[in-house]
Amino acid sequence: MNYLLLFFIFLFGASIGSFLNVVIDRLIQEESLSGRSHCDHCHHKLAWYDLIPIVSFFLIKGRCRYCRKKISWQYPMIEMITGLVFLLVFSFQFSVFNEFSIFSFQKENILNLFKLFFSWGITSCFIVIFISDLKYHLVSDWVLLSLFIFVLGFHLTNFNHFQPFLTNFIPSSFIVALPIFLIYFISKERAMGFGDVIISAIIGFLLGWQKGLLALYIAVITGAIYGIVLIIFRQKKLKSKIAFGPFIIIGVVLMLIWGDRVVEMIKRMYGL
Ligand SMILES: [Zn+2]
Repeated sequence: MNYLLLFFIFLFGASIGSFLNVVIDRLIQEESLSGRSHCDHCHHKLAWYDLIPIVSFFLIKGRCRYCRKKISWQYPMIEMITGLVFLLVFSFQFSVFNEFSIFSFQKENILNLFKLFFSWGITSCFIVIFISDLKYHLVSDWVLLSLFIFVLGFHLTNFNHFQPFLTNFIPSSFIVALPIFLIYFISKERAMGFGDVIISAIIGFLLGWQKGLLALYIAVITGAIYGIVLIIFRQKKLKSKIAFGPFIIIGVVLMLIWGDRVVEMIKRMYGL
């Protein structure tokens, strides 16, 4: 296998990760995405050599070159994670150790290339939702809109499967969003925000209703366990809010990897 290609994919992912850091922090503070990067503390404009993914952080030993204030670990970590996730997505779609032929121009291969880009887009949105919900308890509408567009694009690369698109994925988005909408409505926004309703709808649209509901189920269980642990260690009180987004993302990722097997298992258990 071509290791140089894998290296470039990692590098590409890390650069996108660098952009995701900007998205996470600027969209929440309603700053524009354009404009030069600057230090959060002294607002000094950063030079190109301050902006090399991962490498720069270690070169300047985690401190701003201009004001010496500490730079958040979030930056190199997101860059690293995005690079690795891009590699993983790539190797899932084109089994790494086989020959792959995305660069020969047949209709199938071009569709696969599009599929790869949409998958990278989807995982990028997941990373942004995970971190910004954890950090700010907020997810920008722009990120949700982008996620929806990437999922739509992903489904459209399966031209042969257009019928399930109408009979499965669109109804599924309503089915998966319904329980979250009810919680949102009954708790009067205290337990769930409207953002959670939208995320659930997109998850249903991506996974279908079975895996979508299972992803929610995992999210509720892991979220509850996390909440109980925090209460035991007295980090939180019973009434304090816990971000739901990160747990939805955990559920979705597990379903993307093992969803088919779990659905099969459940069907067999109930003799369906
Ligand atoms: Zn600074």
